[in-house]
Amino acid sequence: MRHIAIIGSGPAGYYTAEAAQKLWGDDVRIDIFDRLPVPYGLIRFGVAPDHQSIKGVSRRYEKTALTDNVRFVGNVAIGEDVTIAELQQFYDAIVLATGAPRDRELAVPGNDLGNVYGSAEFVGWYNGHPQFADLAPDLSGRTAVVIGMGNVALDVVRILSKTRDEFAGSDIVNHALDALTASPIERIVILGRRGPHQISMTPKELGELMELEQASPQVETADLPDEAEDAILEPGLRKSVAHLRSFAAIRRAIHGEKRIAIEFDFFASPVALLGDGRVEAVEVERTEVVKGRAQGTGETYRIPASLVVTCIGYRTAPIEGVPFDERMGRFANDEGRILDGLYCVGWARRGPTGTIGTNRPDGFGLVELIAADMESGKLGRQGKRGREGFDKLAADRGLDIVTFQDWKKIEEAEHSAAREGSPREKFIAIEQMIAAKGS
Ligand SMILES: Cc1cc2nc3c(=O)[nH]c(=O)nc-3n(C[C@H](O)[C@H](O)[C@H](O)COP(=O)(O)OP(=O)(O)OC[C@H]3O[C@@H](n4cnc5c(N)ncnc54)[C@H](O)[C@@H]3O)c2cc1C
Repeated sequence: MRHIAIIGSGPAGYYTAEAAQKLWGDDVRIDIFDRLPVPYGLIRFGVAPDHQSIKGVSRRYEKTALTDNVRFVGNVAIGEDVTIAELQQFYDAIVLATGAPRDRELAVPGNDLGNVYGSAEFVGWYNGHPQFADLAPDLSGRTAVVIGMGNVALDVVRILSKTRDEFAGSDIVNHALDALTASPIERIVILGRRGPHQISMTPKELGELMELEQASPQVETADLPDEAEDAILEPGLRKSVAHLRSFAAIRRAIHGEKRIAIEFDFFASPVALLGDGRVEAVEVERTEVVKGRAQGTGETYRIPASLVVTCIGYRTAPIEGVPFDERMGRFANDEGRILDGLYCVGWARRGPTGTIGTNRPDGFGLVELIAADMESGKLGRQGKRGREGFDKLAADRGLDIVTFQDWKKIEEAEHSAAREGSPREKFIAIEQMIAAKGS
């Protein structure tokens, strides 16, 4: 029997479990640990609440979770409640699928001012992540600056722009829904250091900005390269740039029929955040793109900002004793192998790139690597005790483990508490989740 511990119940964790199960069938036991009492990682806490069809991928993970040889072990933080060395006594292979939950820092003066948030915090707030549910961003100002030109920035901009009606059918948590829809915000500036040809925004998500009830996207025609130059772009990016071109064609809306202007500010690098205790403005340096890289021109200007959200990437959280690549912000690994018997997958392996689906080949590839290591004898002695050994340690330590059946009770309670039209009202405190599962 093979015993595998997967740390993290997001997409990478569940795809790895699915692959292991497909390969070894009844000859494997898989425990999927999560520090939270609820599964699915960023499917619950990252993917935007108004993108419910994307969240539907969790049904696939549930199928894996409900098989006999896979267990969910929630409410256990590895590296805090239990160490990697302890797990190594019980499991043949340990897979870190812990994602990249920390914001990459915007390294400019003033980044610690009030009402400046990283996207992990801000997204976590509107998605009800227990760590960020109390963030209480002040949305009473009129201008927000969102830094970064990827899909996370688009999510943040869209969520800041929607009306209460547009949130119908979403699972945005009530505290965020109330705060967002009461906000008088009327100008959202998206800053990107490079130009329209260098955005990382996908066409579908960009196109959604055109459909917003009370906001309209705006691009300066002068920022767009000659249309003929779009021909060299890969098809997805070409479509995205076509959206930018149509935004440029829309007349300016700030004094028009739509209340909120979403302004794309290209070739713009934030050099300082300004304010007295809390942010009041962003100082920006104009850039030019030379051989694909942004270079400052020395010309600066200020954008008033009562809220700043940085969407510039994420870092994995280190775990004691596990080699870490500081520069890349992820576990040091070679194709997923960290040390013999210790592996990583998903964002913890690659960094924060790709879609949910990218984690699938990652998980399947890793299981092949583990199988090869097992066959070559690299993983040492067989006959480890697996979950039986872990359960004894957990009982001795008094850990309050949340099982998948417990999660189903929590989920049922969330469904019952949903406002009309919404699939669920999430519990935002760990204690509430634990109480909902009962004893
Ligand atoms: C804001 C945002 C929106 C996104 N929207 C989309 C989208 O619309 N479509 C799309 O295709 N992709 C989207 N993505 C990308 C997608 O979410 C990721 O590709 C995917 O979630 C990465 O999976 P993962 O399993 O590596 O990490 P995660 O999903 O982050 O899962 C990691 C899990 O590990 C757990 N964990 C961490 N540390 C520990 C520990 N020490 N002990 C125990 N458990 C631990 C966490 O609680 C978490 O459950 C989005 C990402 C973000 C940030």
